[in-house]
Amino acid sequence: MPLLSCKLSHRFSSLPTPFYSLVKPQPLLNTRWVTWNRDLAVNLGLPDTYPTGKEKEFLSGEVQPSSQLTLAMKYAGHQFGSYNPDLGDGRGLLLGEVQAESGEWLDLHLKGAGLTPYSRMGDGRAVLRSTIREYLCSEAMAGLGIPTTRALGMLTSDTEVYREKVESGALLLRVAKSHIRFGHFEHFFYTNQMSELKLLADKVIEWYWPDCLESDKPYASMFSKVVEKTAEMIAYWQAYGFAHGVMNTDNMSILGETFDYGPFGFLDDYDPSYICNHSDYQGRYAFDQQPRIGLWNLSALAHSLSPLVDRTDLEHHLGQYESKLGRKFSQLMRNKLGLHSKCEKDSQLFHSMFELLHQNRVDYTRFMRELSNLDSKPIDAVMDLFIDRDAAKVWLDLYLERCDEEVDSNGTAVSTTVRCKQMRQHNPKYILRNYLAQIAIEKAEQGDFSEVEVLAELLKTPFDEQSDKNAYANLPPEWGKEMEISCSS
Ligand code: AMP
Ligand code: MG
Repeated sequence: MPLLSCKLSHRFSSLPTPFYSLVKPQPLLNTRWVTWNRDLAVNLGLPDTYPTGKEKEFLSGEVQPSSQLTLAMKYAGHQFGSYNPDLGDGRGLLLGEVQAESGEWLDLHLKGAGLTPYSRMGDGRAVLRSTIREYLCSEAMAGLGIPTTRALGMLTSDTEVYREKVESGALLLRVAKSHIRFGHFEHFFYTNQMSELKLLADKVIEWYWPDCLESDKPYASMFSKVVEKTAEMIAYWQAYGFAHGVMNTDNMSILGETFDYGPFGFLDDYDPSYICNHSDYQGRYAFDQQPRIGLWNLSALAHSLSPLVDRTDLEHHLGQYESKLGRKFSQLMRNKLGLHSKCEKDSQLFHSMFELLHQNRVDYTRFMRELSNLDSKPIDAVMDLFIDRDAAKVWLDLYLERCDEEVDSNGTAVSTTVRCKQMRQHNPKYILRNYLAQIAIEKAEQGDFSEVEVLAELLKTPFDEQSDKNAYANLPPEWGKEMEISCSS
């Protein structure tokens, strides 16, 4: 009998021991499913109902069959700018790799599975609260089309976990194209393990980017891909108003997937200096700092790759970051605003829009969505969001004038109906506001998981009207705007 109904492999365990420690999961008491991501499960060849029996035992870490090794990865990383050599999977284990319908192999990781050699002072556990946040946000990001790790399922338990208060120990089944972080490379560089550093780069190329082998400088080519994927990911964050909160290099996926959800937040009112992480006193990871920090992190990675790649090549590819990010951001914003042709005055139009949103404390998501609804609603629906209606009107007139200049590929003017319909595919009606997650968490902590299910379903198709769910698109209440999300998880 195979362990799972899907194909399961373990290529990471074929690497030598400096890459990981073999660790068995430490079972939690009386685990039960909070939710199971049926769509993703089916895509991976897993059942579309809650796994039971041996399958559940394996997925929840209750039983570790001798046929399947589970391991904690070793990595290091820069945390808030300081190097920490002692990191690694401190509470998560790689269960193996599963094959998606597309043929692609995806990591299956169990977060909250107990102590590992890298747990340091931690208890190896994850609490229900933070597990729900990661589950919902990674799925919300996937719904928005933003590169991200995914969530396959979530379990809670009777195991008590101590944070600011006693909480329930929980487990998250995370699926990712890779769990290799910038910090994996940093670990081998700073410990002077050069053959392992090279082997890691070889495996990244073999597993994810074999076309790099066609280049006469495969490692430089690999680095240029990391630069590109990171730039694109951060462009998405900036365009959709997502703040990650803990952009340490150990939380940066080598493949540019949004990774390790902690005290993240989506912008409510447009405030570029928004800091979602309550413990980030200096604002290092403030919303508008994310592009700069992306470059800082890539520079840290470049330093670790210096034994494999010439300095001039590293500098050349780092030098491409800003323009790659700018190009992607501009493309995403053009989709959001329905302005596909390029026009010199656009950068001024974009700039004044952001200024106006900031000055008037306008809800970013709501503004963009209302702008996409001008085929059915009067312009007042947008102006009503501003304190300074006159200034809003001036900008809107300029914007609508600019829209009138848009033509399709046949040279025909783009109608408001067509433009708005397209724009709604890029401007979500629903995002995971912190207060929505909080309501779902509070219910779940009372044993009622229904709101988690509702949000997970809603956020799968955030661009659709889903009129019976209008209330979820409401602006946040004051308490929701002022919520402070701590790092404890
Ligand atoms: P994070 O802030 O979640 O990215 O975690 C940073 C590092 O701390 C990683 O090496 C984690 O594995 C580890 N860590 C976080 N929480 C715990 C915990 N409760 N027990 C053990 N290790 C942890
Ligand atoms: Mg982390």
